[in-house]
Amino acid sequence: MEAIRLKCRDCCAGQVKEIRECPIRECSLWEYRLGRRPTPEDSQAVRNVRMHEGK
Ligand code: SF4
Repeated sequence: MEAIRLKCRDCCAGQVKEIRECPIRECSLWEYRLGRRPTPEDSQAVRNVRMHEGK
């Protein structure tokens, strides 16, 4: 989780608000970007994106 947090921080130039509001649901780290276990809503959002993309 710490490595993911650091990666997201780097990706968003250290802007915590940007990490929270990240719109890139295709990113494999998206569900974990908040440093906690994904909520059922987060997991469903990712499944919806992947289903839409045929992955
Ligand atoms: S989840 Fe968002 S902020 Fe984190 S690495 Fe992926 S694109 Fe960047």
